[in-house]
This record gives sequence, C-alpha cells and structure tokens, in this order.
Amino acid sequence: MTTDFTDLPLDHRILKSLKTKGFEKPTEIQSLAIGHALLGKDLLASSKTGSGKTLAFLLPALHRVLREKPLSRKDPRVLIIAPTRELAKQVFLQLKWLISSQNVTATLILGGENFNDQVKALKRNPQFVVGTAGRIADHVKDKSLYLNGLELLIFDEADRMLDLGFADELKLIDHCADHRKRQTMMFSATLDSAELHYLTEKMLNAPQRISVGEANAPHLDISQYFYFSDHLDHKIQQLEKLLESTDNKQVIVFTATREDTDKLSKHLSEANYDSVALSAGLTQSQRSHIMNAFSRGQHQILVTTDVASRGLDLLNVEWVINFDLPKHADEYVHRIGRTGRAGNLGNAASLVGPKDWDSFKSIQRFLTQTIEFSELPGLAGKFKGFKSKTAAKPKTVQKTKRSNKKTDAQAPPKKRVRTIEGVDVGDAPMRRKPRSASMDVESDEEE
Ligand code: AMP
Repeated sequence: MTTDFTDLPLDHRILKSLKTKGFEKPTEIQSLAIGHALLGKDLLASSKTGSGKTLAFLLPALHRVLREKPLSRKDPRVLIIAPTRELAKQVFLQLKWLISSQNVTATLILGGENFNDQVKALKRNPQFVVGTAGRIADHVKDKSLYLNGLELLIFDEADRMLDLGFADELKLIDHCADHRKRQTMMFSATLDSAELHYLTEKMLNAPQRISVGEANAPHLDISQYFYFSDHLDHKIQQLEKLLESTDNKQVIVFTATREDTDKLSKHLSEANYDSVALSAGLTQSQRSHIMNAFSRGQHQILVTTDVASRGLDLLNVEWVINFDLPKHADEYVHRIGRTGRAGNLGNAASLVGPKDWDSFKSIQRFLTQTIEFSELPGLAGKFKGFKSKTAAKPKTVQKTKRSNKKTDAQAPPKKRVRTIEGVDVGDAPMRRKPRSASMDVESDEEE
C-alpha cells in the first residue's frame, strides 16, 4: 500500500497543494483508488464516511484536467453528483481549495437555488461541475448543460441517490454523457444492492472494485453508547445529562423531524445551552448561514435531522446524540460518522425509546453486533425493549465501544446492563409494524 502521496504519480502541482495543507499520507481508500483511477479505469468503491473518499476521486480528476487535452472546450470535463446539497457543498469546498492556485474552473449546481444564475454560470464553461442529481438533470433537459465532452463522471454515495428516488435522473445523465472515452467512478456505502447492481452494469465498464472496511464494520474511532428511554420528557432529561458530560465540546443532536429540531433547540436555549436548529422552512441561505456559524465553532449544539448526516465535515464535533434513531440503519452509520473524523476520536449516544425499537433492531442487525446498553445515573429507562416471540432464552449483550483512554475519560457515567431478560438481541424477526410517518426521515434534496 502507498504510504506517501509522493509515491503516487500525481501532478507536482497537486502534490504541492497537499503538502501545503499538511496532507502527507494518503488514507486507505486514497491509496487504493487513486492508482487505478489514474490508469483511466472505472471504479466501484465503498468506503466508510470520513475516510477521505472525496480526495480519492478529486485528486485523479484534477490530475487528468491538468495533464490531458480536453475532449471539448465547452462542455465540463468532470461532473460530480452527490445526493444532498450539504454533501455537494462539501465536495465543492474541497475542490475549490485544491484548484485555488491552478487555472481550473468549477461551479456548484444545487437544487433550491436560482436556475437562471446557474445557466449563466454554466455558460462560462467550467471544467468541473459539482451538483445534486435532480438539478443537474434539469439542466441537461433544459440544454443548459451539455455532457458530450464529459471525461469523468463521478457518483458520490450512489446508494443514497437511489434511496432518494433519483435512479431516472442518474440514467439520464449517464445517457447524455455516453462518450467512448468517459471514465466513471461510483462511490457507495454498500456495493451489493440489486438496484445498484443494475446501475453499475449499465454505467460502468469492467470496474475495479475497491472496498475499504465495510460500511457496517465497527467504527473504531467512535465510542458508541445506547440508553433505554421511556418517553419524550425522559429523553430530554437524558439529553441534558449527556450534555453535562460533553465538556462544552461541539455536539450534533439528531431528531426524527425538522419540526422537532425547532422544539428541542428552543428547549435547550431556554436551559441556557448554546443551541441552533436546522429547522423546517429555512431558506437555503439561512441554512448555509447556520452551518457556517456552527462549523466556525460559534455554537456548541446543532439540532438537525438527517439532512446534515452526510457531507458535514466538522472536525471538532466530539459528540453525536441520536435523540431519535434514524429509520434506516445505514443512516445511523452516517450520522455517527459526523464525529471521529480524519483520525479524531468521537462519541455517539443513542436514546432508544419504544418508537425507536424497530430501528434499533435493524441497526443492530446492520452492524452485525450485539449491543450493550448503558445507564445514566438516576435516569435508567424502565423500557427494556419489546420481547421477541422467538426469544427462547436471554442472551448476553455486549457494548460496541472500543476502549480508548480519551473517550473513557469523557464517557458519561454508566452502569452496564449485562443481560436483558427475554429480549432477543440477535437475529429475531421484527414483530412490530414499521414506524409511523411522523418518524420519517427528511431529505434536503432539491424540489
Ligand atoms: P471525506 O471522507 O472525504 O469526507 O474526508 C474526511 C476528512 O479527512 C476531510 O476533512 C478531509 O479534508 C480529511 N482528509 C482527507 N484526506 C486526508 C489525508 N490524506 N490526510 C489527512 N486528512 C485527510
């Protein structure tokens, strides 16, 4: 495996930017992907959140733009599509930093923003276009974006785009960029879903498959805690107790709905916490304002839904608290991946009430681990999970935490529950119906 960026045949200008930034060693996904990408191969790669996958595709893309003649002077050379506005923005920020001292142009095309302004920006013939799937497809249909000369098509978190219902848009983009010389890279948390398989068969040409740590492998830099909760008030008390142990470090609190983010953040502000919410009904620029303020460390707590669980690159977040569990198990991995980034250590706490039980079970199955619950002093939950019909005998549950000194010191006081009477924490089928619509996860994708 490559241990130094200089071992990779990257353009010297790129190596210089990396050095200036203090990036010396490629991460695992970078050292595996970049070499193949530089050879012009199609890639199908899975990599954990926070593992450096953005540069894994941006570095070879920029190398190509700097070193090779364009197929067209007008059309973009590289198109990067991401599932959410936040993620697209994060990719764009890394790209802007990378090209800041080069004569390379790029534009960001997001849903929810002025279409005509984007048309004008596209008329300036940027070499890189980064954007969200729906709006990019709109520009293709509108003929404000031509992809005949596209050299590199990159799908970031392709599985998520399929989950959000963008298969048709992706197919349209693929179709319009169907050039013999096009190279395609697809990144996805999971590589084996049937829908993704259909897409990869059509869009990728003999791809090199790269898998760095499965999406459901334990995230060793993050200590995970689970607490039983009885009801809303109980959750609020537990949240406040957890916040006491965060030592004023930055925290992201996830709720199930945007309406809940407002209520909870208001409650925290009244309790003298420095909290902001990415709430319902905010305009794109208000949301960006809040995100920027939080990433500059101007607030301690950000209350949000899953819109922020991807794409947020905040190295100072030490705690993620799931006030409600996400509906989809892979979303849990992405949420907690907002902490423990780029080699830092982080903590994730999840409050598991009766409404969260189905989600908890699917998270446990997804992580393929048994999970041990902790207790907050004086706030132990009476709820202990629903019994499974098939639970023949109680099993011992273990915690998912990696022992590490730093997080042990910061960990909230906890008493381990060794056994949950009558609860099958293994592979028992789910008994209850899926959760109600009010628990639905919202997406920030474009209109
Ligand atoms: P990503 O998984 O692409 O969202 O990247 C997560 C974080 O790791 C970002 O803050 C990157 O700037 C940072 N990062 C990416 N590659 C490296 C590297 N080779 N060395 C140090 N940090 C990196």
